[in-house]
Amino acid sequence: MSKIRPQDMGKPVEQVCQIENLMPLPAPYDKPGMEPDFKAPKDSWKENYCATLDGFVGNDTLTRPKTKEEQDEMVKKFLSGLEKLFNADTNRGMLQPFMLSFEYCAKCNTCADACHVFKSSGEAEIYRPIFRSEVLRKIYQKHKKGGSLVNRFLGGDIDINYETVMRLGELAYRCNLCRRCAQTCPLGLDNGLLAREIRKIFSMEMGIAPKPLHESGTMKQLATGSSTGITKDAFLDLIEFMEDDLYELTGKKYKVPVDKKGADILLVHNAGEYMAWPENPAAFTIIMEEAGLNWTLSSDMIGYDNVNYGLFYDDVQGKKIGAAQLKAAKDLGVRRIIQAECGHAHKASMVSQDRIAVGADNIPRESCLPLLEELVVKKKVFKLDPSRNNFPVTLHDPCNIVRMMGIVQPQRNVLKAIAPQFREMTPHGVNNYCCGGGSGFAIMNSFNFTDFRNKVSSRMKFKQILNAFQDTIEDENTPKYVCAPCSNCKGAIRDILEFYQATAKFNVHYGGLVELIVNAMVQFDKPFMEFLRDDEDMF
Ligand code: SF4
Ligand code: SF4
Repeated sequence: MSKIRPQDMGKPVEQVCQIENLMPLPAPYDKPGMEPDFKAPKDSWKENYCATLDGFVGNDTLTRPKTKEEQDEMVKKFLSGLEKLFNADTNRGMLQPFMLSFEYCAKCNTCADACHVFKSSGEAEIYRPIFRSEVLRKIYQKHKKGGSLVNRFLGGDIDINYETVMRLGELAYRCNLCRRCAQTCPLGLDNGLLAREIRKIFSMEMGIAPKPLHESGTMKQLATGSSTGITKDAFLDLIEFMEDDLYELTGKKYKVPVDKKGADILLVHNAGEYMAWPENPAAFTIIMEEAGLNWTLSSDMIGYDNVNYGLFYDDVQGKKIGAAQLKAAKDLGVRRIIQAECGHAHKASMVSQDRIAVGADNIPRESCLPLLEELVVKKKVFKLDPSRNNFPVTLHDPCNIVRMMGIVQPQRNVLKAIAPQFREMTPHGVNNYCCGGGSGFAIMNSFNFTDFRNKVSSRMKFKQILNAFQDTIEDENTPKYVCAPCSNCKGAIRDILEFYQATAKFNVHYGGLVELIVNAMVQFDKPFMEFLRDDEDMF
């Protein structure tokens, strides 16, 4: 098969790319039949969405235009949005980084080796980090300079039709925005940023964004207070249930402070934790209370959910959520906000909100990880028995916390103090690979997109997990724990372990950092983590 080129994006072919040679996995997944096959796209998906890129449908609002007028309108809107990227007024704060990445690529392909999607797919050409950037460059060149022979030679050799536009809209959702490619680029170019800029055109100009991110995420969060749909009353009920479970597990009555005016710390979780992993906010409660900290949760609209999906696809939506989150903290009069274990919330809150929170609106925002290190390692506030965590533990580095914010060591120092069998993944720290759920993939479950996530974008992470546990992977009596201090990463890792049946077959578990800390506390008789207990129905 000849090499796929950016010019092929507009060609009338049924599917531009078919993944054929997935990256092999280590033992015991090196044998045939150990992983489910891809599900082919159904005819109805092909008819109504864009399954013509690689057979997956990730963007479930990118519907196929039915008439010539609708097709032309799609192209027109895309080009209008593209032009806005090049204007300081319509691409506020992003013009300079966008232009740097758009204009100066040397095509050296150093970035390709860094990209887990490209490598996991068996180096399928369309996932090469510069492939989508090149499509964008060609469209711009042709749009601005026309289709003359000279201009085609200068890069404008592409058909700007609705198929090109639709496929590019899908291709923007084959990148985890993990920025591992940007870290290796000798010129500092960021192909992840360009993928996000394409997403912005679709969302901000064309009203097209995956429902899990926009409709069920941002819009629900603005309407109810949380992307999970947990209203304030439901949130308060969940806190009561959590207190009851904590009493049952520890024999101690913990009272979770809610809406405590003037507290030192406003602790904010990804609200998904309360639904999917309530043991995580429960463990935080024990830690904050046992350390005697002056802290609170907020029950205010948006004050209890640090999710900000705008980070992944839309500047305006990101700003709306960020401003509402800061207002909730301001109204409580807290001294600082501490982000619990959620990677994208770290970045949205600490990096992106720096552009929103100026002057009196600016409340310090911090990561929970240095605080945990201070309590566990530096001040030794708790009596801990590491032998309670005497099973293999490895650490996943959430891209948004580690590579993009440089918070590398605190979580490791904690693990070294509480987990005797801690071992690193290879590579790790700022060189980590994304869990495959980054940039919203963890919650994008439309059609057959989960196949892409589990078999392609999460494949490198699964390989790393298997390699980290090679010494005991086939010993089903030895529990193994992937520590992932991020809600979205946990969601992706949960799905990998289920998809490959790694928990059922090989006793591989996952969870956060605080659960391990509490599990090591000597004052509790029962293990904190469910997979170590007999009574499995708590939390
Ligand atoms: S940001 Fe990550 S997923 Fe996207 S192209 Fe770069 S390395 Fe690949
Ligand atoms: S490493 Fe940088 S300069 Fe080289 S191809 Fe990738 S983006 Fe272009």
